[in-house]
Amino acid sequence: MSDDAMSTVLAKLGEVRGDVEGWYRDLHAHPELGFNEIRTSALVARHLRRWGFSVDDQIGGTGVVGVLTNGAGPAVLLRAELDALPIKERTGLPYASQVTGDGSAKAVMHACGHDVHMACLLGAAQLMAATPGAWRGTLIALFQPSEENGAGARAMIADGLTDRIPRPSVALAQHVLNAPAGYVGTRPGPFLSAADTLRVVLHGRGAHGSKPEASIDPVVLAAMVVLRLQTIVARELAAADRAVVTVGSIHAGEGANVIPNSAELLINVRTFDEDVRARVLEAVTRMVRAECQASRSPREPEIEHLASFPATVNDHEVTERVAAAFHAHFGEAAETSDPLTPSDDFSQIPRVFGAPSTLWVIGSSDPTAYAAAERKGTLAEDIPVNHSPRFAPVLQPTLDTGVRALVVAAMAWLAASDTRLS
Ligand code: ZN
Ligand code: ZN
Repeated sequence: MSDDAMSTVLAKLGEVRGDVEGWYRDLHAHPELGFNEIRTSALVARHLRRWGFSVDDQIGGTGVVGVLTNGAGPAVLLRAELDALPIKERTGLPYASQVTGDGSAKAVMHACGHDVHMACLLGAAQLMAATPGAWRGTLIALFQPSEENGAGARAMIADGLTDRIPRPSVALAQHVLNAPAGYVGTRPGPFLSAADTLRVVLHGRGAHGSKPEASIDPVVLAAMVVLRLQTIVARELAAADRAVVTVGSIHAGEGANVIPNSAELLINVRTFDEDVRARVLEAVTRMVRAECQASRSPREPEIEHLASFPATVNDHEVTERVAAAFHAHFGEAAETSDPLTPSDDFSQIPRVFGAPSTLWVIGSSDPTAYAAAERKGTLAEDIPVNHSPRFAPVLQPTLDTGVRALVVAAMAWLAASDTRLS
């Protein structure tokens, strides 16, 4: 890669920094839930058009893609997410969300940093658009709806994404997390877990609370299922197989003196490997059925697959190229990350195009506060994680790092003097 070409693009970072911070504060103060990102998608589309991108919007509902063609060369797709979460913000920031819902009573908050991703992608898009002499090829800025429930990427694909934008040579994405701001982490191979959400209804027979002999108690049955499921990771998987099985919700009954008819469980499964995923899901089904049988359950349990995220598996060659560019640009701050248990539906987009891809993470916590908490051993208490009502990325160097990372990674393919064009 030509360092000159990249320096030319990043030389204007100082000029767009104020805008990026402004977009971030504005997006943070106006979060919208998945598939309701009306204001958000209009904002990103408006800016992309202003910089000469040809924009296709309302893809899969609220998805937006801007395409900037600048001569022959590879096509690099950069992806960000539009959606926020149903969480009441408790950061106390001057630009904290006051939004109380999309028709429901729920509060809404950008608690996963998707506002950071959008502001940084807009910043990178503006920088690339302002320096056409430094690169050639096609830049694709893709903003997807509804990442949090795993439906947004699929919705864009179902709405004809592959016919609406050029086929990318490579697809790239980043995610903020609770590491010190300035940190950039890459990892070849399996990186983010696959996630499956299941709804299970266990059937019993309701009766008076004083007459257990007349009932088949679904509360006791549910308790047995919850405990039995803990043995999947502990007793059926090898130590080297990583998985998490969480029963995040359990509901049965309304009063102390009534044995209810049924119980409902919401189960979340995280895995990094297709084979392990299949084994865990099979074990969940087998154990639920067997416990129902053991309890004389009068009906088969209902097991419904509510959501499914694929594992994020980073292409080795692409990740090495990005990691080398990050090392050259960020030095020590660019590290190899451990695999992470969150999930993301990003990989569905490169998969549908048959394009290789990588996702990296950037830090967003105040480096001083992080170091102090690390010294005291209080990271879990003091440094809020994604999806916490106190999640509050520091503006800088988080936003600069996010803009730089996108430009540096994209330029690993697009830099004008690059002879490795593929
Ligand atoms: Zn999230
Ligand atoms: Zn996220």
